[in-house]
Order: sequence, then C-alpha cells, then structure tokens
Amino acid sequence: MTLLIGGVELGGTKCVLAVAKSPIDILYRAVIPTGNPQKTLQGIFDFFSGYELNRIGIGTFGPVILDSESKNYGLLISESKKGWKGINLFKEFSSNSKAKINIDTDVNAAAIGEYNYGAGRSCQALIYITIGTGIGGGVLVDGKSYTGNFHLEMGHIQVPNPDNFEGVCRIHGDCWEGLASGPSIEARWGVSPLELPESHQAWEKEAELLASGIVSIIANHSPDRVILGGGVMKQKHLFSMIRSKVGEMWNDYTPLASPSELIVEPGLGSDSGIIGALVLGIGGPAQI
Ligand SMILES: [Zn+2]
Repeated sequence: MTLLIGGVELGGTKCVLAVAKSPIDILYRAVIPTGNPQKTLQGIFDFFSGYELNRIGIGTFGPVILDSESKNYGLLISESKKGWKGINLFKEFSSNSKAKINIDTDVNAAAIGEYNYGAGRSCQALIYITIGTGIGGGVLVDGKSYTGNFHLEMGHIQVPNPDNFEGVCRIHGDCWEGLASGPSIEARWGVSPLELPESHQAWEKEAELLASGIVSIIANHSPDRVILGGGVMKQKHLFSMIRSKVGEMWNDYTPLASPSELIVEPGLGSDSGIIGALVLGIGGPAQI
C-alpha cells in the first residue's frame, strides 16, 4: 500500500491542506478559512476523510506546546487566534485519525520545507522569517528546528523605535511585530501596504525596521541564510533595501555571506509551509 501523508498548514487566516505521496508529490490540496475551531477542524477532517492517511504533519500558529513527551502536546496556550486557546491539536487529530501525528510551528514548518526542497538546502544554520499579518521566525540547526525551552517568538523582539510609534502588538505594543507587520504599516501610514507605491517613504521605514530585527537575529544565530517570506515581502523591492541596511548596521563586524546569498526569497514561493508540514508528516526533522 502506498504511504499517504496529510499536511496541514494552520495559519491565522487560512488553513492549507494537502494529501501527498511525498512532500513534493502532492495529490490533492485545499484551502479553507481559519474560523472558529469547531468549524475549521471539521473542514480539515472532512477533507481528509476520503483518504487513509498513515502520517499527518501539522505546522500551526502558536503559542503551542511542542514537547511530544508532554501530556499537553499540541495544546494552543494563548488566545493569539480568537477562540483557539485551550484547543489541543494532537488530541483533536488523534481522535479523528489513526495516522501518526507530528506538530511544529508554522514558521518552523516553512523553514523545514525550504531546508529540504527550497532556498535553504545545505544551510547548517537557517532562519525563516514571515512578515505578513504578524511576524514570526524559525531557526533550523542542521535541518532540525530549534525550540529552546518552549519555542521561539522572534516576532516579539524589541527593535529601535525612535519616533515612539505605539505599535499594534496586542501584548507588547511596539515590539518588532508591533512596528513592522502588515497591520502596523497600515496603522502608521493610514493606507494598506498593498496600495502604497514603491516610492513611498513607508518602505524606507519598513526596510529599516526589518533590518534592525534581522541584525539582532544574525547576532544571535550567525545564520548561513535568512529567508524572508509572507505577504509584506511580496514587495520585492524591499529585499535590496533590507540587504543594504543590514550591511550598514552590521558594519563588517564579522564576515557575512554576500548580501544576495544571505537574505533571500523563499525557493518554494508560498508552498514552504505546506511542503514543510508534509516533511514533518513523514517523521521529518525532530526538534532539538
Ligand atoms: Zn509583541
């Protein structure tokens, strides 16, 4: 019998689902909105109900308990998405499927997808950062996600805020996500980032804020590569601005890879997360 893998990329606004023979051999896929947990989980189980899955990999928004030894493995512990606090994804999926289940954060899953099949291949220390409705980041060391004691929350580091903008993070106000996510661009300039022309000063500010966070991450992790994904990074002109500001801020303190090798677009486009979830499904990289 052919091994069938289910992949789930559970995001704050939508949930991408796939059934595959291997992470890059997707047979069926679907996208459903992420609404309340009951409706969303039912939508996921309805999609999977036609297939006998052997394995399921889940990349989810957090904060979520990733310690597979914990009795609360898969528990969403915060109301980062309304209504989801207290939902245990491992229990929900286990009671609906006999498949073996493996869970990581959405950004770690995206990093794993890129490490195995995308722009992060053969990177000993790989960072994936998504900049969209929020900011999140994952670190892989030799292809395994680094979770530390709980898991990383890179979007909530502090960055310089010289104009004292109050920021939009519900928890911290002016953390990195509070200052540089898509909603914060809209809050600062009063216009959706989608409608801002390339020449608008908002992008200079955005590149500076993103570079500040990336320099902190470089100082902490000395990565071979930093992959920038998410809706805001669809503004391709940001890449060269960020590269040059990172170079200025780091000021040749230690040698870095060339800017265009260090800071790159995802090689898998918007499929990094779902492909990474499928890698998790086949028992892909354990956490360290
Ligand atoms: Zn925050």
